[in-house]
Amino acid sequence: MSETADVVVVGAGLSGLECASAIVAAGVGDVLVVETGGARTGTTAPTPLAWVSTAPPHYVRTSRERLVGGRSLDWHGVVLRLEEWALADPAWPAPARSALSSLYEQVEGELADWAGGTLSRDRQIHGLGRVLPAGQAVPQAVRPDGDGGWRAYTPLDRCTSWMASGERGGQPRVRTGCQALTLVTRAGRVSGVRVQDRGTGDTETITTTTLVLAAGTLDNTRLVAQLAGADRPPAFTGVNDHLVQGFVVRLPPAALGWPQPADAFEYLACGNIRSNLFARTRAVPENTQEVLLDVWAMGEQLRSEHNAVSFPDPGRVPWYGLVTPGLSEPDRAVLAGQRRELTKLWTRLAGRQATALRLPDFLDTPFAFDRALARVMSEPLAVPVGYCWPLGTVEHESGTLPLGGAHVGETGELSAAAGGYVVGPATFPRSGAANPSLTTLALARWTAARVLTG
Ligand SMILES: Cc1cc2nc3c(=O)[nH]c(=O)nc-3n(C[C@H](O)[C@H](O)[C@H](O)COP(=O)(O)OP(=O)(O)OC[C@H]3O[C@@H](n4cnc5c(N)ncnc54)[C@H](O)[C@@H]3O)c2cc1C
Repeated sequence: MSETADVVVVGAGLSGLECASAIVAAGVGDVLVVETGGARTGTTAPTPLAWVSTAPPHYVRTSRERLVGGRSLDWHGVVLRLEEWALADPAWPAPARSALSSLYEQVEGELADWAGGTLSRDRQIHGLGRVLPAGQAVPQAVRPDGDGGWRAYTPLDRCTSWMASGERGGQPRVRTGCQALTLVTRAGRVSGVRVQDRGTGDTETITTTTLVLAAGTLDNTRLVAQLAGADRPPAFTGVNDHLVQGFVVRLPPAALGWPQPADAFEYLACGNIRSNLFARTRAVPENTQEVLLDVWAMGEQLRSEHNAVSFPDPGRVPWYGLVTPGLSEPDRAVLAGQRRELTKLWTRLAGRQATALRLPDFLDTPFAFDRALARVMSEPLAVPVGYCWPLGTVEHESGTLPLGGAHVGETGELSAAAGGYVVGPATFPRSGAANPSLTTLALARWTAARVLTG
């Protein structure tokens, strides 16, 4: 007898668990979340990565172990609202845009409760005014982890122990080591999902009439693409990631106006270059006389035909996918503006006599953050090392299945299969400069409300 559920959610990550718990909290008893990863480290066979890129290192997917919780186990908890200038784009369906302002308030309130009352992490002993005049503390949904560190919000807590005030009890069922292979439809409606057990290799169909795709942008895109059938494999333009470049440098604390090293994390919105500037300090290992300063700009990449996802060889399910990354003229303008701002900021901090800041070529020879961090440790004090994050490695990939677009309606409903829905950053019509997760959590509620009304 095959399994059935009132609602099946594919993917137990940030968007999937948030959506599933909102549906359960509204009183739906039988919600099943299928997750290809395991419940704990080392418990499930790895899911093969079926993605390649035409321009490595951009969109070279690292094979992180998949676990229940998805990237909500790793994220840094930075919660920023999408900027007014990005939301004003008519690409955002008007109902979603107007729902977002109250959803932001609701989610921020709950995250603050979860975090112990506030989203500002009270650890800033000294400000970063010398780096970012008018900078503000970065809002983060984090709380102490019990080991002297901090951890970010995960909706997994909602499925185990934590409830927002007034929320009903109850949990979705989570089936681990279970990879969704393809949606099953009958007469244009969802009738189930074909899954494979990662341990035994057995496949079966789970029967449902309501299915929410929450497998991350690229895997959601693959599952939607497969609906079209192998004789008509569609291509998706508009995949985008944030444009991120910056520098790291070791400094004496006095350069920041501080008597001693301290942790600080601030940001400044720069709407003119569709970016946020961030500055963060950390301790230098085994050195109490220096502080490591990391300054970066995170900017919007527009959805454009320069960035595509395609499926060149649709044979065996799941289809293997190809990402073709690129930069449009507006993207290049954002990068040039960021370079100007970062250079200005470094020159103001270090003086005109200081070592000049060099930033790598973003598209052709990106020099990743980890390499810059390793190099700065062998450079003298006050020598900055520039870096940029290759596209697709910022983990903010989005935009292939925008709300109100060809594949997905205004509330996340799939056009090709009634009863099917999509959540996650894939549905953003425009990404703005803000980190995506606050909007992801808010839109998970938006689509959950639509699932509940059918
Ligand atoms: C180190 C790091 C730091 C970050 N910091 C921030 C931050 O501070 N602020 C911010 O806004 N964002 C941040 N992000 C980005 C944020 O984590 C992602 O945007 C967010 O998790 C995406 O949510 P999602 O639900 O779409 O994907 P995920 O959270 O990745 O969830 C997708 C889930 O689906 C599962 N899955 C995939 N395919 C299948 C399948 N076929 N069948 C079954 N299950 C499947 C995956 O295993 C995964 O568990 C960060 C990311 C990383 C990695």
